[in-house]
This record gives sequence, structure tokens and C-alpha cells, in this order.
Amino acid sequence: MDIKLDQIRGIGPNTLRILRNHHIWSTYDLVLNYPRAYESFSITTLDKAKDKETLTVQAVVLTEPQMFRYSKGERITFKAQVFEHKIDVVVFGRGYLLKQLKVKDDIVMKGVYHLYKKQMVAASITSLDKTQPIKPVYHIEGIHDRNLSSIIHSVFHERKVSIYETIPEQYLEKYHLLSREKALYYLHFPRTMEDIKTAERRFKYEEAFQLHLKLNAKQIGKQERPPKGYDLDKVKTLISELPYELTKDQKGAVNDIFRDFKKSYASYRLIQGDVGSGKTVVVLLAIYAAITAGEQVAFMAPTELLANQHYQYFTTMLKSLKIALLSGKTKGKDQMKEMIQNHYFDLIIGTHALIENDVNFANLGLVIIDEQHKFGVNTREELMNKAHAKDVIYLTATPIPRTLAMLAFGDAHVTFIKEKPQDRLPVESQYITKEKINELYQSIATAIQRKEHIFLVVPAIDSKKVSDNIDTVYEEISKEFNCPIFVLHGRLPNDEKERMMENFIYTPGSILLATTMIEVGIDIPTATLIGIYSAEHFGLSQLHQLRGRVGRGTLKSTCYLISEKSDVERLETLSKTNDGFVLSEYDLQARGPGDFLGTEQSGFFKFDFLDLNHDQVILKEAEHNVLELLEQPDFKTNPKYKYLYKTITDLNKI
Ligand code: ADP
Ligand code: MG
Repeated sequence: MDIKLDQIRGIGPNTLRILRNHHIWSTYDLVLNYPRAYESFSITTLDKAKDKETLTVQAVVLTEPQMFRYSKGERITFKAQVFEHKIDVVVFGRGYLLKQLKVKDDIVMKGVYHLYKKQMVAASITSLDKTQPIKPVYHIEGIHDRNLSSIIHSVFHERKVSIYETIPEQYLEKYHLLSREKALYYLHFPRTMEDIKTAERRFKYEEAFQLHLKLNAKQIGKQERPPKGYDLDKVKTLISELPYELTKDQKGAVNDIFRDFKKSYASYRLIQGDVGSGKTVVVLLAIYAAITAGEQVAFMAPTELLANQHYQYFTTMLKSLKIALLSGKTKGKDQMKEMIQNHYFDLIIGTHALIENDVNFANLGLVIIDEQHKFGVNTREELMNKAHAKDVIYLTATPIPRTLAMLAFGDAHVTFIKEKPQDRLPVESQYITKEKINELYQSIATAIQRKEHIFLVVPAIDSKKVSDNIDTVYEEISKEFNCPIFVLHGRLPNDEKERMMENFIYTPGSILLATTMIEVGIDIPTATLIGIYSAEHFGLSQLHQLRGRVGRGTLKSTCYLISEKSDVERLETLSKTNDGFVLSEYDLQARGPGDFLGTEQSGFFKFDFLDLNHDQVILKEAEHNVLELLEQPDFKTNPKYKYLYKTITDLNKI
């Protein structure tokens, strides 16, 4: 039973309008709108009050309030007792209190306390509600918290709302969690702080449980397929032909993938490894295995340049196979599509053109997505549809903190490649403030002279909020240097971006001025200098990524970080570690999860109660419970789980 608020007695049109503006339409919406905070009166005393501190205290009115009028308004004064302290109270502009306040009244005042005058300038005075020692704060402008409380109170007591349970009862019992209804009631009408804590614990678990339901939604009704019948001997031969021995982590990754292949349902895996950790050869083996099983493989890269680079690599490594490059620029697309459909091609490498065009595969079995976060949401969704019931491997060099990666993909689906095959020359980092920009300029001049490549990175294109943007920095450096300056940012059309990048690569002694577009890009062994402006705008793991654009050859490289003085301590972490995962954990602590997940995804990780950093135990338990539940043979049919099953099927439609 869920009643529209206009059918509830005692809610006037004004209140109704305000509530609707807050998306509160029904009694159910109302009870879900729990307090944002609480005020507790019983605890504050004046014993340790500091001068001009804002306090909320409980007091007794000692003298008849007096009103004084003056040109701008009115003022009420009286004496009050706050525990053992007698103080003067002044209230401005609240004439109506004169009639309400009586000697001996118990009141609650909030205001600024002037220690030396023993006087409180009160901003609010309400009578003490002895039945409700902890006052909920709703922050709905235009409606007094007390009025809202009393409406909610009658909704609960007159049973004008029904609150369904979202957690199966076995888990409520196991963890001694409050029912959803009781927990909501406690949030609105706590008698003690303990009440609030117990209610919060229930909702933390609920959020964790829901999160894991969502995360596993895609796996439910697992897309069955026979285990891949790949030819291990052929794969071993290919491994023996590699010019190097696989590192331990690479072997681990290959094993993880092959284990997925042997399952009886389609799987997905995120492979995380810094740039240069050797992810490509790992997928080379995966691709080859799938092809020996008679399947086709699609490989999607975020740019034409990268698709090209992969095409070169795979055609060299897999000479016996038929490989297609399908990008925006491909000529004779129709014929190529026909050949894909006829299974002439084994491996199809491409950009988003791979899915934008109506490409049909004869027997697609595996999809590889390089740097998936670089694709837009739509592309990703389309791809997921195409890849329905196919195995998917995501590759990323952008370190997502372990905790988040495990949450987003599930423990069993994340592989880390930490070890690097060969050590690169460390990049020297220099921290400077904008006043010392000449140090950077001198290094730029030297690099130009040596015909090396220089990256300059700014946080914005033309934002007024960021003084170092493409426009302003272009103006500064074009005055200073007369070498070619190429400009790259997200607003350029795709082919223009690629042209800029290519021009830069083929012009030694030039500068590329860019936004973070260059994060994933191409190897330029002669890139030796990178300057990052307004570095305070970037997370450490992003700076680490950017820094990795230089020092890729045998030349000594430097990274200049131009930032505020106050940022130096944070930046120094960059010299201490070269491990992207450590840095990403630091960012997660300092900046929250938003940095790592596309905006649309970070909503996925926004919680009212749950704290990803501190509630790991709850998350673990909830994950365990969800998986356990989904294993139950009657999960889809038992009416007990009807609600949960519906949640999942709804999610699967997204
Ligand atoms: P990623 O895609 O992870 O950034 P790549 O796969 O492009 O890295 O590998 C980076 C370089 O390291 C390539 O030149 C590759 O040939 C080389 N490489 C990969 N694995 C090994 C290995 N086990 N031993 C030596 N070199 C390797
Ligand atoms: Mg790569």
C-alpha cells in the first residue's frame, strides 16, 4: 500500500508542493527520505565552550522574555539556565517567540555563544520534546523538521505505508539485521544513537547486497556455451616460437584465460597491467587458442592508430591466419563484411567501426576490448549486445584500485600483471610552481635542439576555471618557441586527432600540446620531456600514466609537474613509487572512486550508507551471500525470491 500524499490528512498544498519538488510523491517516498543528520541535545554543556562557538544546548527559561523594537526589526532577551550556567539569551527577528516562551519552559537553543559576556545569540529556539531526545534533520527548506517528523510519525502509526523486505530472511537472521520497516522507523525516530547505528548497519548490508546483485546480474541465467575445444599443442608451439620467455604474471594471466575457456558458460575477464607489462602477447595466445577451436575473434581498439599497431603485430605473429583490419578508413567494407560473415577471416581488428557497421560474424567466440573505458557508454553497450554469450577480455593500462576492480568485475574475473618484462629507465620528476616555468622552458629548448619530442599536458581546453588550458598555454609557448606545435584535444574530430598525433610522431623537435588524450597512445622512443600544467587537477595514477609517455627508449627523460606549493607533498609520492596500483589506491583514499570509473559508472558506486573503504567485511559477506543465493536451484522459481529475481531481470535489460 502506497498512498499519494495529497490523500493524507494534514498535508497542506504548500507542503505538498515542496515535497514534490524533492521528488516525494507518496507515503513510501516520504519514509525513504530519511534524515540527513541528527541533532542530539542531551550532550552539549557550556563547560568547555569556546568563545563564539556555535552550540546547541538544552536550557530552562529563567525570566520573562522582553521585546525591544528598533528600526530594522525586533529583539527578544531573557535569562536562561544551561545546566549550572546562567546566561543571557538574545534572539533577533523572532517576535512570535514572545508569546510562546514562558518561565520554566524546557527549550533547545542553537546559536553563537559569547563566552565573556555569558550570552548566547540564538538562531533558533524550540521547545524540548522529551519523547524524542535525538532530533532528525531533514534539510527540506520550507518545512520544519518537526512538522515533517509528525507527518512521518502518523504515516507509520496509521499504517499508511507498506515497506517490503529486500533481503532474504535467512540473512536477516544470520546477521541480526533489522527488518527494512523497522530500520526505516529507527532512522526517523531514534531513541538512542545505538538505534541509528543498528539501522545503518542494516542499510549498509542492503546496499552491499544490492551491489552484488547488480554485479552478478549479467551472469545470471549464465550464457551457456560448450567449453572451448582449443588445441593446446598448437598454442604451446606458438609459445615456444616467441622471442622471449613469458614472465610469471603473463603465464598466470594466460592460465586464468584458459581456465575461463574450459568453463561451460561464457566468461569475462579484466586484465590490468601498466603500459609495457606485456598484455598484448597474453591476448595473442588467447586469440590463437580461440581460433584453433574454430572460432572468430574480434579485437577492438580505441583509436585507428592503435588498431593499426595491433594489426601489424598480429599479422607478423600469426602468419598462418586470416586477419582483417576494419576501421573507419577501410575501403571495400562491404566485401570485407561478407568475408567476415563467410568465416574467411579468423581475427578482425578494428575501432568502434567494428560495431557501428552491421558486421555479422559466422562464429564469433571471443571479444577483446583494449582500454574499454576510452569508449563511450553507447559503444560499450552495443558491443556488449554483440558479445552476448561470447567470452570477453578487457585490457587496461589504467590502474583501477584493486578494491574497485574486484567490486566491479568480481574477484574471480580480475587478473593483474604487475611484473614488467624489462626495466625501463626511470623518469626523473621535477616539481615546480608556475613562477619557475623558465626551468621547463630551458628543458624544452634543449629537447628541441636534440630533435626529441615534447609533450605538454593541460587539464582543460578553454575552461575559465583553469588558468592553464589549451588556449592560454598555446599563447605562452608559441611566443617562446618557434618549433612546430601540434594541438590535440577531445573536441577535435577523430580523423583530425589521428592526423595531429601522426604529424607529431613524424616531426622530431616538435611539441604536442594536449589534454589527457595522450594517455593511451603510441610508443615514441624519442619522447623525452613531458610538462604537466596545473597538476593539482590530476590524480596520481593519471599523472603516473602521463609520465609513462616518456622514457620509452634509451634516452634519459624528465617529467615536469607544475603545481601549487601545497600539492608538493602529494606529488612526491610519485617519486617514491612506480607502481600504478599503489598510486591508484592512494587516489581512491584521497579523491574517492569517481576518478576511476566513467561518470555513468561512478553512480554505481555511490552509496548512502556503505563506505567502500571501511565496510569491506560487509561487502565480502554480501558477495558471498549473493553468490550462494544464485546457486540455489530454486532461485528463479521460489516465490520467496520473486522480488530479487525481478531486480536482476530488470537490470539485465539495461
Ligand atoms: P602493453 O600492451 O601491456 O603495454 P606490450 O604487450 O605492448 O605491453 O609489451 C611491451 C613490450 O614488451 C613489447 O615490445 C613486447 O614485445 C615486450 N614483451 C612482452 N612480453 C615480454 C617478455 N616476457 N619478455 C620480454 N619482452 C616482452
Ligand atoms: Mg598495449
